[in-house]
Amino acid sequence: MPLQVRPGIMEIAAYVGGEAAIPGVERVIRLASNENPLGPSPRAVEAYRAVAEELHRYPDGGAVALREAIAQALKLDAARIVCGAGSDELISLLTRAYAGPGDEVLYSRHGFLMYPIAAKSVGATPVAAPERDMTSDVDALLAAVTEHTRLLFLANPNNPTGSCLPASEIERLHAGLPDSVLLVLDSAYAEYVERADYSDGSALVEKHDNVVMIRTFSKIHGLASLRLGWAYCPPAVADVLHRVRGPFNVAAPAQAAGVAAIGDGDHLEHSRRHNAAARTAFVEGLKRLNLRAEPSEGNFVLVRFGDAAAAAAHLKQEGILVRRMDAYGLPQHLRVTIGTDEEMARVLDALSRFEQ
Ligand code: PMP
Repeated sequence: MPLQVRPGIMEIAAYVGGEAAIPGVERVIRLASNENPLGPSPRAVEAYRAVAEELHRYPDGGAVALREAIAQALKLDAARIVCGAGSDELISLLTRAYAGPGDEVLYSRHGFLMYPIAAKSVGATPVAAPERDMTSDVDALLAAVTEHTRLLFLANPNNPTGSCLPASEIERLHAGLPDSVLLVLDSAYAEYVERADYSDGSALVEKHDNVVMIRTFSKIHGLASLRLGWAYCPPAVADVLHRVRGPFNVAAPAQAAGVAAIGDGDHLEHSRRHNAAARTAFVEGLKRLNLRAEPSEGNFVLVRFGDAAAAAAHLKQEGILVRRMDAYGLPQHLRVTIGTDEEMARVLDALSRFEQ
């Protein structure tokens, strides 16, 4: 008898990411993965290097120093923090612990791809609720809840649309959910948000038993390569995550760099300011080229083209990598990460020579 793959697995299209090279191009401009173009804090790099002496040791399985550093920096409770190998791992662990065959995992139509992938991996059914104007729609999400719904993933701001809901809408969403649904607020891009009515969701976590917030060191902290994320949980959910996670799921260099990064407020502020200014300038530049970008609160913008495939091919020829959006059901869009000022000028220059 041949090997039996679990139902649902073969419906998953493998996630493609981290593309780095263009044949024949020496200095590729990488704007496809929402990384920090300024890199990590120098203090994080130093802390990472210092761990090289101890590579034969297992890391601290409880990530104690890192959890305490995060708690201190963001005024949170360290006991409620669970660390993971990227927030991707936390999405997988939460799904594995709370959903299985016959269950539904709800998300917004253009939500992050990992949500349906995680759902299918455990044999659950991903359910995509419609959006309004490329923005998550609380009423549509609540209308899509059934007796089978176990998890609701909501990225705020959302990748790839860049849209963002105010704290009041998140509270309304939570209030309309049955206690049996775990609301996972994915705040991967929280640090970039400019609007005053935003909240990352940590306050809601502290008030309720069925809300989790997940965060990452891959974006503003510039540590994507180290795979480091964390969840802020009700105590019972933290207990569940500790049961299902691997015993040493976060590498020691990642833990050490994370402690240093979260303590470097200056680098974070510098990165935030750069992103806000460069994003505004880029969107204005796009307007001058008659290109339309979705309003974004993240470190990326979604740009609409007549022929997005041709635009991506043109940019690639110019040494610039951006992300095609076909996998998100947005074949006419490209997602462009906000890079350095020089990189964004290169993108605009390349687009000015692109004939639609
Ligand atoms: N959530 C969202 C909304 C994201 O955009 C990403 C990265 N693309 C992740 C989670 C995963 O990030 P990481 O695993 O690097 O922490």
